[in-house]
Amino acid sequence: MGEIISGKELSKQIREEVRLQVEELKCKYKAVPHLAVVLVGEDPASQSYVKAKERACIKAGMKSTAIIKPLTITEEALLNIVKDLNDDTTVHGILVQLPLPKHIDENKVIDAIDITKDVDGFHPLNVAYMHLGRDAILPATPKGIMTMIHSKNIELKGKDAIIIGRSNIVGKPIAMLLMKEHATVQIAHSRTVNLKEKCLRSDIIVAAVGRPNTVTSDMVKDGAVIIDVGVNRVDGKLCGDCDFENIKDKASYITPVPGGVGPMTITSLLQNTLECFERLMK
Ligand code: NAP
Repeated sequence: MGEIISGKELSKQIREEVRLQVEELKCKYKAVPHLAVVLVGEDPASQSYVKAKERACIKAGMKSTAIIKPLTITEEALLNIVKDLNDDTTVHGILVQLPLPKHIDENKVIDAIDITKDVDGFHPLNVAYMHLGRDAILPATPKGIMTMIHSKNIELKGKDAIIIGRSNIVGKPIAMLLMKEHATVQIAHSRTVNLKEKCLRSDIIVAAVGRPNTVTSDMVKDGAVIIDVGVNRVDGKLCGDCDFENIKDKASYITPVPGGVGPMTITSLLQNTLECFERLMK
């Protein structure tokens, strides 16, 4: 049976390390990292993500402020909130929970965030720095995936990886990060043909689609590493994009859903907030 990479366990360990670092920095700077999360509307999934982020911040000894605005907020008013947070020297990280309502241009809002406080790593300059291999704030989910891979010392050099999904927040950045560590990367999407053959040739499969059973055991070669990013609800139960039960015996390593990439995303957000705080306080 393949080894399960538990994001839950790894998160516990890293969040404790973050908490200890926050304590140390509190003595040094007489301040703690402060994350401001802006939420527009009442989407239950977004609300629960924001709550989970808030809880994790507080547990790590950080300060968290949620700014909740109604769906009717204008783009101008939202941009003003971001500007105020940029100017507020007591705030070290800014996150605008996506998606935003249709009348607001998401790009304009992301572009308005001060890149030194861009804990999501979505600002185009941070994205550009990441693509250039320069020092950048990495987006939380891909960063969490890399931390999971590193935690098991999985060799990436010379390995063939396939990323299923080409979103800006998962697919594209994880492809860059794997390539930076010398994997040979292929990106698949909804128009890809012969996905099964492509997966069967891959040493690493990252599934970020949002569709259960996108990866089944007949698509996986023996010893492959399986990273399941997908979050789906089937009959009231959470599952990923990969057929975990039937793949786990074939894989060398596999991430579960729940308890895999999900907790690592929040853990990476804490690390990014800490990183922004340290840079801003220096
Ligand atoms: P997204 O923006 O909806 O992108 C989905 C991607 O999947 C698209 O590139 C799409 O192709 C591709 N796709 C759709 N059907 C496909 C198929 N049959 N075969 C191959 N590719 C297909 O999604 P996302 O934001 O990256 O999220 C993906 C999943 O990860 C979702 O379930 C999301 O909830 C989850 N997620 C989890 C975390 C976490 O922390 N655990 C974080 C982020 C996302 P096209 O580009 O051609 O449309």
